[in-house]
Amino acid sequence: MTERLYYTAPARTEFEARVVAVEASPSGAIVELDRTAFYPTSGGQPHDTGTLGGVRVVDVQELDATRVGHVVEGMLAVGQEVGGAIDWPRRFDHMQQHSGQHLLSAAFDRCHGARTVGFHLGQAESTVDLDRDLSAAAVADAEGEANETVWRNHPVAIRFATADEVASLPLRKAPVRSGALRLIEIPGVDLSACGGTHVDRTGTIGLIAVTATERFKGGLRVSFVCGGRALDGFRSRRATLAASAQMFSVGESELPDQIARHQRDAKAKLRELRAAHGRLNDHEARALAAGAETLGGRASIVASVATSDASVLKRLATTLIATPGRHVVLFSSETPALVVAGRSADLTFDARDVLRGLTERFGGRGGGQPDLAQGGGLDADPADLRKAARRLLAAG
Ligand SMILES: [Zn+2]
Repeated sequence: MTERLYYTAPARTEFEARVVAVEASPSGAIVELDRTAFYPTSGGQPHDTGTLGGVRVVDVQELDATRVGHVVEGMLAVGQEVGGAIDWPRRFDHMQQHSGQHLLSAAFDRCHGARTVGFHLGQAESTVDLDRDLSAAAVADAEGEANETVWRNHPVAIRFATADEVASLPLRKAPVRSGALRLIEIPGVDLSACGGTHVDRTGTIGLIAVTATERFKGGLRVSFVCGGRALDGFRSRRATLAASAQMFSVGESELPDQIARHQRDAKAKLRELRAAHGRLNDHEARALAAGAETLGGRASIVASVATSDASVLKRLATTLIATPGRHVVLFSSETPALVVAGRSADLTFDARDVLRGLTERFGGRGGGQPDLAQGGGLDADPADLRKAARRLLAAG
């Protein structure tokens, strides 16, 4: 059995203990002590880190209900007396989040009768799962109420109760463990069975801020940050907002209106641009049709077009073959080149044969339908490509 020093002294960072067992495991040696200040992962709160006899403690686990295992990067011997040291910034952060959770859960319960059915203390944010869905305004109410209890700076007491006593106590949540229990009491605010590490006064939590909500299993999952994490979150949002406001040359509060205006302008410009592209396409199609030549007895249009956009080529070819009796092969003007081959609906020639003839000779790939095929990666000069296409059309 491991004596858990953090049960009664959660702010203690250093301790002396004796190694009572060492067991090899894939993740490192698991060391058991007669007493420990290290918190093992449990009840939604992650484990502490630190050092034990000069070696690093990378994980702390509950081996069973009474024993705590420390996974260390090194070797310790059974019977050895060791000094332990907890990483305080990590522990303190966990204390702020966990105590904040008790206040937030109590506020949801008190304000809306919403019970907490799950808690997870994450690396960046923590979550509580409520048994019912709530509106954004209701969440804000509970958040405000929880912060009121932070600012009133209530004491946070640790109590122990026998199973009999527990039965008659108004606990916020039915306890998971049976038998004698450790209780965390914030008089007049919350009474919960909990093995976690907590601040000694609610003011130490600093601030509780809800960051997001989502529907979850018929209830609501509420993400939140407390204390130092709330400050970090504020700083990061401040930097993002300031950078965005500078880009638009407006005050932060004007950003939503400004972004909406830019989106409206961008949409209007896009509509104009599409209309202009349409006019340009029709104009280019007329110019190309004027230069049609007769190949294989049919009107044929073979040309290189100054574009690197496959959709521009395709649209142009589609416009040209809308007129009966035409064969069309268009290339982009860069190397490697894109290609679109097509023919009018009244002809039977297979455009894919032209495409195949070109890719066999110049590389690249493509595919399509008998009336319209497209490809790319043709590695040749535009003039050579046009010459080859003319030969294929003349032979077809
Ligand atoms: Zn707790």
